[in-house]
Amino acid sequence: MLDRLCAIIPDHPEPGITFRDLTPVFADAEGLHRVVNSLAEPFAGEFDAVAGLEARGFLLASAVAYAAGVGLMTVRKGGKLPREVYSREYQLEYGTATLEVHRDALPKGGRVLLVDDVLATGGTAAAAASLVEQVGGTVAGIAVVLELDGLGGREKLDPWKVHALQRV
Ligand code: 5GP
Repeated sequence: MLDRLCAIIPDHPEPGITFRDLTPVFADAEGLHRVVNSLAEPFAGEFDAVAGLEARGFLLASAVAYAAGVGLMTVRKGGKLPREVYSREYQLEYGTATLEVHRDALPKGGRVLLVDDVLATGGTAAAAASLVEQVGGTVAGIAVVLELDGLGGREKLDPWKVHALQRV
């Protein structure tokens, strides 16, 4: 299903980067259903909240949280949140960026499952995991649809449990 629906865009957003676009998976009713269920499966009973990474991670994290009956915390790109934040700068596959969370994003603490669409170098997920810990949570694991092999993402996230539906 992922092979059939995932679009591959060479040289986007820069020459040399092969971008994988999962929006056709999200647009497919069965695809969305299977992806959302499969992301949470190995973590059943192991998380009390879900963290979605802006922006495509929001779509998946929201559905995972709703299906599991837990709350959602949003990990946003820098400068968007209106109240006091914690910030982390990190390296992207292309460039640098900042992630932020509200300081009171996780009022009850607990175990947090991080959800995003793609794991590449792991910089985004590592920054988000560190923000989860800063607001008083523990990282239950990291669930992604695609893991890009050979970029060291999984190694960067050691010893957290990383679940990828497909490695490419
Ligand atoms: P990393 O920090 O692991 O290098 O990059 C992961 C972040 O960049 C994720 O938030 C992901 O959405 C985005 N990203 C990197 N490469 C791709 C890609 O090929 N396709 C998509 N959809 N997102 C990507």
